[in-house]
Amino acid sequence: MQCTICKTGETHPGITTVTLQRDKSVVVIRDVPAEICDDCGEYYLSGPIASRVYADADATARRHVEVEIQRYAA
Ligand SMILES: [Zn+2]
Repeated sequence: MQCTICKTGETHPGITTVTLQRDKSVVVIRDVPAEICDDCGEYYLSGPIASRVYADADATARRHVEVEIQRYAA
């Protein structure tokens, strides 16, 4: 698909690192499958993957962990 950020790049399937902030917690999730823009590097998560990543971030925030680095496991 065409990138909605830079509007010039095309996205291709790849692997990215997602960083999310929840309250005082920062969650870094590595090896997340995503569509990645070949021009600006913006990534797009599919619905189920985004839900999973956000749920992981919420769970980390509830444990009051300040920084957590996870690896995405399908
Ligand atoms: Zn782009």
